[in-house]
Amino acid sequence: MSETDGKLVNVTIDGKAITAPASLSAIQALWHAGYPRIKSVGCLEGVCGSCRVLVRRAGDPEVRTQLGCQTLIEEGMQVIFLVFPRPTHHTYQLEEIKSSWEVQAKFHKIFPEAGHCRHCGGCNLSCPKGIEVERGVELATKGRFREAGELFVECVMCDLCLTACPEHIAPNHVGLFSRRVTAYFHIRPSNLINRLEKLRKGEFQCKGG
Ligand code: SF4
Ligand code: SF4
Repeated sequence: MSETDGKLVNVTIDGKAITAPASLSAIQALWHAGYPRIKSVGCLEGVCGSCRVLVRRAGDPEVRTQLGCQTLIEEGMQVIFLVFPRPTHHTYQLEEIKSSWEVQAKFHKIFPEAGHCRHCGGCNLSCPKGIEVERGVELATKGRFREAGELFVECVMCDLCLTACPEHIAPNHVGLFSRRVTAYFHIRPSNLINRLEKLRKGEFQCKGG
């Protein structure tokens, strides 16, 4: 089916009134109308997940966060592309972690704010991939990196969860770290590492000794 086979709908994208076939995504609708958008279109810039948009549908008071490539246009829809820089403050080299025994302590040094999660659920609401972001952060803070990483398999690094977080946690980078360390190490039992970490910090006393 060609793009012109679909029913025509009227939408507003980045303030531009556009009429285009309903079969098109928000990005395709811009191109269809003659606007050569490339900025923040990840598949053209090499970074998937960059095409985050705010979407408001006709008759719906909610403004939702979605991906421009996955948002099919509808009559009366308003779309705004979000462009913001990616954070650079979480830098680390996996080679600097000597063994899997050190992973949990290293995680809290790299992501000190992760332990401040308010459990507000903002990250879950903002995620266009439906990931249990908040739970992923919680699992990682407990050293359960394999489970945390599995939750982020569908993550496209759009940064919407990061933008939504009042504690400036970067949940997507927490997820990426979790996946990397799981692949890098044959992780030892997380409950044992967690208990040793608590002992190291003086948060756990052995009974009778
Ligand atoms: S976890 Fe965050 S970065 Fe990943 S897709 Fe969801 S909102 Fe985007
Ligand atoms: S938005 Fe931030 S503070 Fe709120 S639940 Fe998610 S990670 Fe925690």
